[in-house]
Amino acid sequence: MRIRALFTTAAAGALALIAAASPALAASGAADDAHIEKAPVAATQHPGAPRERELIGALHEHSGYSDGWPGSRPADYFASGRDKHDLNFVGSSEHTSNVNSPFTFNEECLDPRVAPSCQNADPVNPLDALRKWDAELDQAKASTDPAKDFVGFRGFEWTSDRMGHINVYFSRENSLPETDGGTIAMDRFYDWLTTTGKDGLAVFNHPGDKTLCGPLKCDVRSDLGFGWEDFKYFPKADDQMAGIEVFNGGGDFGSAPGHNAPPEGWYAHALDKGWHVGAIGAEDKGHDRTDDWGGSQYAKTVVLAKSNTEKDIKSAMADRRFYATPR
Ligand SMILES: [Zn+2]
Ligand SMILES: [Zn+2]
Repeated sequence: MRIRALFTTAAAGALALIAAASPALAASGAADDAHIEKAPVAATQHPGAPRERELIGALHEHSGYSDGWPGSRPADYFASGRDKHDLNFVGSSEHTSNVNSPFTFNEECLDPRVAPSCQNADPVNPLDALRKWDAELDQAKASTDPAKDFVGFRGFEWTSDRMGHINVYFSRENSLPETDGGTIAMDRFYDWLTTTGKDGLAVFNHPGDKTLCGPLKCDVRSDLGFGWEDFKYFPKADDQMAGIEVFNGGGDFGSAPGHNAPPEGWYAHALDKGWHVGAIGAEDKGHDRTDDWGGSQYAKTVVLAKSNTEKDIKSAMADRRFYATPR
């Protein structure tokens, strides 16, 4: 029996490893909140490895602080993930293109009846609309509650509609392509990331979705900037480029076809180019009034961390101890 027990443990360990590397396998079985309950301790462990928890969380959230629905603020998505959906963590990612303006940039703001509510992005603390970046951190920290087993942390979305979008989590400073030069050459963003932003971890967002063609039909690859210069590898940034969104909202961005993907799919393509990226499941929600941050219908990321603190989540992500589920 002992041999059989050992075999079972080893096989389960191998499965866990495969699951961590394969979004498709990781996805099986996750159907709704009931199936992604918080697990106190990961079911399988390598001998001698520190015990880790499987923390389930929502990444990539928007509110009225950028192009989310008017009247919403970061505190709303943190509370929704924590109280409504019982998640372990939520990471924010407002567009930095909007961070230095007090307005909300949602499409609904074009409606004259809605426009007045877009003049100040924070209906609760209007002065916070003038200090969005700091207020995002305040609201993330205020939402963090060990009694509810929840951590809120701040990130931002670096938004180049030529190269692609990138989320940076945990950094003290932010950046935008209009100032760091990343819209002209990716090397300039990676310069920022590895100096001023060296305390951040970054994720390639919804690969293949942003092109200079926009909605028009044209050859997206005729622009050499497309797809972060076709995922051109910069060794200096490899440690910090921790993930790639294989799921975003309800869409599959890791596999072909779709989203202008090459035959092998965007995830394999990024790995082939040299990047050591793990699979991220991102929500990218908050743009519509009907969006339900943290809802079971959206992609999630599971992080294997020693404990549920921002420090341990960051450390786990730096080590690529995470995997994606489509919901
Ligand atoms: Zn985006
Ligand atoms: Zn986004």
